[in-house]
Amino acid sequence: MATLAMPLSGWGRYPVQTCELERPERYTGLHSDAACVIARGQGRSYGDAALNENGRVLLTERVNRLLDFDAEQGILRAEAGVTLAEILDVIVPRGWFLPVTPGTKFVSLGGCVAADVHGKNHHHNGSFGDHVLAIEIILADGSRVVCSPSESSELFWATVGGMGLTGIIGEVTLKLIPIQNASMIVRHHSADNLDQLFQLLQNSTTDDRYTVAWIDSMASGNRLGRGIAMCGHHAAAEELPADLQNTGQAKSSHSIPFNFPAFALNTLSIGVFNALYYGREGGKREPFLSGYDPYFYPLDTIGHWNRMYGKRGFVQYQCVIPDATAFDGIKALLQELSGSRRPSFLAVLKRLGAQGRGLLSFPMAGYTLALDMPIRDEGLFVLLDKLDQVVMQGGGRVYLAKDARLSDESFRAMYPRYEEWLKIKHAVDPENKFSSSLSRRLGIVEGRP
Ligand SMILES: Cc1cc2nc3c(=O)[nH]c(=O)nc-3n(C[C@H](O)[C@H](O)[C@H](O)COP(=O)(O)OP(=O)(O)OC[C@H]3O[C@@H](n4cnc5c(N)ncnc54)[C@H](O)[C@@H]3O)c2cc1C
Repeated sequence: MATLAMPLSGWGRYPVQTCELERPERYTGLHSDAACVIARGQGRSYGDAALNENGRVLLTERVNRLLDFDAEQGILRAEAGVTLAEILDVIVPRGWFLPVTPGTKFVSLGGCVAADVHGKNHHHNGSFGDHVLAIEIILADGSRVVCSPSESSELFWATVGGMGLTGIIGEVTLKLIPIQNASMIVRHHSADNLDQLFQLLQNSTTDDRYTVAWIDSMASGNRLGRGIAMCGHHAAAEELPADLQNTGQAKSSHSIPFNFPAFALNTLSIGVFNALYYGREGGKREPFLSGYDPYFYPLDTIGHWNRMYGKRGFVQYQCVIPDATAFDGIKALLQELSGSRRPSFLAVLKRLGAQGRGLLSFPMAGYTLALDMPIRDEGLFVLLDKLDQVVMQGGGRVYLAKDARLSDESFRAMYPRYEEWLKIKHAVDPENKFSSSLSRRLGIVEGRP
């Protein structure tokens, strides 16, 4: 199969590395013949999870057929390269929705399993892997194995959240959830500070199936952590006004055509934006109707928004801190951030539910904070190392799907089930064929391509 060596990056556009790309046209073209290979879906992980410097990257985007859809039971079987966007187009008109979705629909099914992604409903419904009935995986020896929570379950839970390092996920069978229409009922609650925001996220009267909070990352002093809890659920038929057939799907009407100069996003412009946003969105006290697209995927309406951070790219720092230490930990992180005078354009706080069964999965019962930070200079990495210390002191961890810079030592401290996972990896891939830049940087997989 022809390959092409070219520079490649994740969504954060950092790092950029030369990889040898191969793009099979169909399922039978997925193979594990190369000595060092990693699968790639839509490249929406932010750092180097889907990169393989000087090694093979297997692009799965053409392996994207829907294979079977049981519209009675809501069970979908599809090739792993299909995107959530393509799936939604088919299932929503038939009254079904994804059980868990990340904040973009331009991700592949395989990428969602490999990162065991979580959504705004993690505290109620767990992560993606909890809804996967079975996967077919192509192992290092070329065999194709079906595994599930009840069949070869060790391999299943090493692959869910395993960042592509146990093999190539070829097919996924997913259980969907029923919906009555394409609309969401949304309610916003504003909080003047972090204390109030935590209370909103814990309060069962404000919480909903989907709950996430936007934080004004520029606020400091007694406004530190001010934000808006955005809570929503799929509208029941009787919640829709009689005259309204709201499918309200936003179109991708805006695109960032070129790299913003680095000065465009500075503490002043972000401060102004945040103040306006807090005033506008926090003022929406009454429940309102929204299409599912703008509710779940607000950033998808702006094509290539990742270019907004300039040529050097950006890092998304996402961590989780367990319940017992979450408030103090998140407060300390926000204090570090506001003290650093480094702007974070986006800051999102979310409550997570119980830890799942994926051995390298990110979620644990606690609170997750995600920060988008442009790379201006090396000082950013010094700050992020400090944030790691706060996270580790609180017993938390950093999300590998967003990571581009964590150290191997910190990784081991944050992922205590790593040794257990490694035993399964060695059993199915003794020569470490499946290897990525992330896995070598973190010492998960040794050796160079
Ligand atoms: C705007 C935005 C919002 C996001 N919001 C969330 C969120 O709310 N929650 C969340 O959890 N994540 C979120 N993410 C992260 C994203 O969901 C994950 O990184 C997801 O893995 C990306 O899927 P992908 O197809 O782009 O995978 P890629 O980035 O291509 O790959 C990610 C990992 O999956 C592996 N992989 C991909 N396909 C396969 C396959 N067929 N077989 C084996 N391994 C495979 C790769 O090797 C790599 O390790 C967000 C990302 C963006 C850009």
